Amino acid sequence: MGAPKYVYYFGDGRAEGNAKMKEILGGKGAGLAEMTNIGVPVPPGFTISTEVCTYFYAHDKSYPPELKAAVAENLARVEESVGRKFGDADKPLLVSVRSGARASMPGMMDTILNLGLNDETVKGLAKHDERFALDSYRRFIQMYSDVVLEVDKEHFEHELFALRDRAGVKTDAEIPAEALRELIETYKSIVTKNDKQFPQDVHEQLWGAVGAVFNSWQNQRAITYRKLNAIPAEWGTAVNVQSMVFGNMGDDCATGVAFTRNPSNGEHRFFGEYLPNAQGEDVVAGIRTPMPITELEKTMPAAYAQLEDVYKKLEAHYRDMQDIEFTIQAGKLYLLQTRTGKRTGFAAVKIACDMVDEGLIDHTEAVSRVEAGQIVQMLAPVFDVAEKQKALKGGRVLGRGLPAGPGAAAGRIAFNAEHAVSMAKDGPVVLVRIETSPEDIAGMHSAAGILTTRGGLTSHAAVVARGMGRPCVVGAGSLRVDYAKGELRSEGHEPLEEGDWVSIDGTTGEIIGGKLDTRPSEVIQVLVEGSMKPEDSEVYRNFDRLLKWADAIRTLGIRTNADTPNDARVARLFGAAGIGLCRTEHMFFAEDRILRIREMILARNEAGRRKALDQLLPFQKGDFEGIFRELPGMPVTIRLLDPPLHEFLPHTEAQISSVAREMNWGFVELRNKVNQLHESNPMLGHRGCRLAVTFPEVYEMQVRAIYQAACDVQKDGIDARPEVMIPLVGTVKELTILSEMVRRVAAETMQERGVEIPVIVGTMIEIPRAALVADKLAEVAEFFSFGTNDLTQMIFGYSRDDAGTFLPEYVEKKILPKDPFESIDQEGVGQLVKLGTERGRSANGRLKVGVCGEHGGDPDSIRFFRTCGLDYVSCSPYRVPVARLAAAQAELEFKHFEG
Ligand code: PEP
Ligand code: MG
Repeated sequence: MGAPKYVYYFGDGRAEGNAKMKEILGGKGAGLAEMTNIGVPVPPGFTISTEVCTYFYAHDKSYPPELKAAVAENLARVEESVGRKFGDADKPLLVSVRSGARASMPGMMDTILNLGLNDETVKGLAKHDERFALDSYRRFIQMYSDVVLEVDKEHFEHELFALRDRAGVKTDAEIPAEALRELIETYKSIVTKNDKQFPQDVHEQLWGAVGAVFNSWQNQRAITYRKLNAIPAEWGTAVNVQSMVFGNMGDDCATGVAFTRNPSNGEHRFFGEYLPNAQGEDVVAGIRTPMPITELEKTMPAAYAQLEDVYKKLEAHYRDMQDIEFTIQAGKLYLLQTRTGKRTGFAAVKIACDMVDEGLIDHTEAVSRVEAGQIVQMLAPVFDVAEKQKALKGGRVLGRGLPAGPGAAAGRIAFNAEHAVSMAKDGPVVLVRIETSPEDIAGMHSAAGILTTRGGLTSHAAVVARGMGRPCVVGAGSLRVDYAKGELRSEGHEPLEEGDWVSIDGTTGEIIGGKLDTRPSEVIQVLVEGSMKPEDSEVYRNFDRLLKWADAIRTLGIRTNADTPNDARVARLFGAAGIGLCRTEHMFFAEDRILRIREMILARNEAGRRKALDQLLPFQKGDFEGIFRELPGMPVTIRLLDPPLHEFLPHTEAQISSVAREMNWGFVELRNKVNQLHESNPMLGHRGCRLAVTFPEVYEMQVRAIYQAACDVQKDGIDARPEVMIPLVGTVKELTILSEMVRRVAAETMQERGVEIPVIVGTMIEIPRAALVADKLAEVAEFFSFGTNDLTQMIFGYSRDDAGTFLPEYVEKKILPKDPFESIDQEGVGQLVKLGTERGRSANGRLKVGVCGEHGGDPDSIRFFRTCGLDYVSCSPYRVPVARLAAAQAELEFKHFEG
């Protein structure tokens, strides 16, 4: 076996790596290698693999012994390729040192440019252009000192601004060479004053920079970003060392970033921004508002033509929208990065559908291209047109910026990330900044919308907001943010202060003072409201096409959790094939019913209870009829009463007194009864089927209502398919007693009505014991539905109602990878789902099995349920599109895995 390979060269049309090697080369390294291989112009360089990062952290921040020689060897290849030498006073090679993890983490880790400059090599560079050489040197000292030596960059900026004032110039480009020479000396003395030494040895510079990049994998903002995006810390970053090309060497130079299609709305048009005579970081940092790429076509047509060739080549090669970074040096184009571009849910759907139409990808590929969770963005509200017109006419538009993340957001202004986080607890917040930086990530996450006054469509704010699916407007240059005064100013308007309302339209870029009401998205307008025609909405048509392709792939059924005819209808329109959980208790809370259920609970004997229940029956029957009519021919799983009775009773003294009056009870008498029904652990108490064991008449009424409703709609020609579900079963006997009761009452009711409907009875599996005795339960039950909310509660011993006090910390401290109430705990709870299904099916080959806990709408959980062989998942109506897409993706993965 040879020595392990830690360094991979790319240059001169050949690379040792390729696009498939993201795990060891990181995204950037793999992209550079692939571009080199397909003949795209890339400055030569090499990638130090992520395995070195892993080694670095496992060995007390040291390197594998083979690394030094490998770096030296590859550096020599770069020197030979460009005809310059590292540290040479005559023709110095300069390099950039950049991070690059497997997943993109924009701006979270460190980068150093112009490395290799010192008092000697700067002279070599100055032979070409002295001012440029000195400017590069001072930039390098500043960047190196900030990133590697940890000297605060404020010190350097302060001196730079002072120098500009003294020289009477506005921009850095106007500072004369002589003044730059002085500035370099001042910079060096700043470093010395901070007890650090700026290294003149170029090799020391290189290893300092490599170490800083590896260290930045564990900086706070990288950690936060990884947490928000579920990127494992074990992946590590690679380090890319690449020969420098300069976009700041004169007017025939430029640097920019571009997307092969619009990442915000998916429009099929090359889209990007650039800065003439500037270095790459100036664009990404959003410090100068860059020019649209269309200008480049006018000002540098030859370079633009090269760019057009290259972007088309890249998109055709990767068959996906690319996000590229480029530099033009003396009229020649170089690519510094290509990666699959992040995009909003809107853009993802449009790009996938367009690429199918263009013959680039097939339906299956299109389905796998859209993150399932992202599709909910297409259901998010937009501003009400009439309201917005009113605001426009009323002069409430404060300004306009660039539409960086689609959707509408109204919220209270927060001027910094910390305030955004705390204010968001009391309602929606719009984070308003001059520009954002990686430190703002938590504030951006808690904000409903993001507004900046500086920066372009590829600035930090824009990239991050799109990734998070937040409505975002950037570069609203006519607005002024004054942090010191805490004001957002726009000419002709009263300044807005922190806490005031502002509304932003991330689709058009408008910023409007005050709170604007929103209206439903186009998808909802077409599908649910019928207020828009499909032919008028491309957004809807693409949504529909993609989900139909998903339906053709998936085998997992999708049902919904719905308790009202309207929810049932919405879910059907979203593509649900029936109800997996109808929580009947929700029907008791309506004003006209709560009194009756209270009478039932407080009745002194069975006769009193039956009297109250007789009055409730017509209400229940009406609800069921409405639901059956919405879902003809589809299964409707109705769960009999589940919660502990005290949930229906008044609790405060004032409530008790008012209910006592209403029901003709004495106050003290009612309070005593309420106290008597109080339970210490109601979730583990007298609820679910336990209620029916002691008060069977409650379930009897519900079953009667179900079958009366089913028989009556059947007479109208509507095929009603009720399935009766018993909750919280732990023993076979409970299920036997109650299912016999259901069958008896159903038979009586159908006989009275003269109608025959198949009676289907099943159980929830939400108590661990039920999963363990699933084979016995399956002899009685026709179906199982895993109630993974209660199952999670009982397996972990975490209260569903109180676990919020410590679970976030558990996730933060990595005791748990995720909140188990959000995404199924595959290791523990998941085992019981698997085992319960297997045992159940072993006893009853025809057993139908589903899930109706919250996990039924979570893409990761859905993937897991597919591997357990479940028949369906059931989720809330608005999650149905997510579940359809996730189920198709789960199928593709499962098939792939199974070979
Ligand atoms: C469950 O426990 O997962 C469930 C669906 O029932 P509920 O949330 O109503 O307890
Ligand atoms: Mg439950």
